[in-house]
Amino acid sequence: MQAVAIVVAAGRGERMGQGRPKAFLELGGEPLLLRAARAFEAAPSVGRIVAVVPEQELQAAREHLSPLAKLLAVVKGGERRQDSVLAGLRQVPEAFDGVVLVHDAARPLVDVELIEAVAQQAAVTGAALPVLPLVDTVKRVRGGRVVETLDRAELGGAQTPQGFRIALLREACEAALRAGVALTDEAMAVERLGHAVYAVPGSKRNRKITTPDDLAWAESVVAGILHT
Ligand code: C5P
Repeated sequence: MQAVAIVVAAGRGERMGQGRPKAFLELGGEPLLLRAARAFEAAPSVGRIVAVVPEQELQAAREHLSPLAKLLAVVKGGERRQDSVLAGLRQVPEAFDGVVLVHDAARPLVDVELIEAVAQQAAVTGAALPVLPLVDTVKRVRGGRVVETLDRAELGGAQTPQGFRIALLREACEAALRAGVALTDEAMAVERLGHAVYAVPGSKRNRKITTPDDLAWAESVVAGILHT
């Protein structure tokens, strides 16, 4: 059974310092949301795509995404990322019992190989995400003072898409909501339930666009000036 991709784009993107939500800024002449969604359109393991966007961008998003044959729905998001994920999950037909891939529209350079790797691992194990090894030594700092140096060999940066069997993701997100836990990714909700989550190798190209510097980096990649 093919996976359903939920591309979340309902954040305000305040760190970009632009008037428009981040996912609607352009990269190589196309909104980030469209670039990210296109990768899922091209991925053989994906059957349908749901986009979650700010209410005021519903119309624009429907126009941008209309060329995608796999588009299932474009819906408005919630206050927090986890609320947006739940809004996306509500669009998936009840009868579907395959894998859901949750992806940040803010990672527009995700490639098909990574999507396939996560989808396959999630189909086998129930939960998978890309993890990129850290290059810096990591310190725990409290009140400006270093209190601990963490073992870098065991640490990595979590990326998206994160893939889960849908029943597991629903259960995990609803449990987090009931417990009032703030989530920074979906894997965290699944880990809370004690379910194993498996890592596949992340990619540098799949960087999250957060600041204007990240967007300038992505423009260089798209223009072929920079190779990742
Ligand atoms: O803010 P941050 O960059 O961590 O957001 C990650 C992704 O989650 C972005 O693609 C953003 O649009 C999305 N998001 C959302 N709904 C929110 C907050 C973030 O869809 N309420």
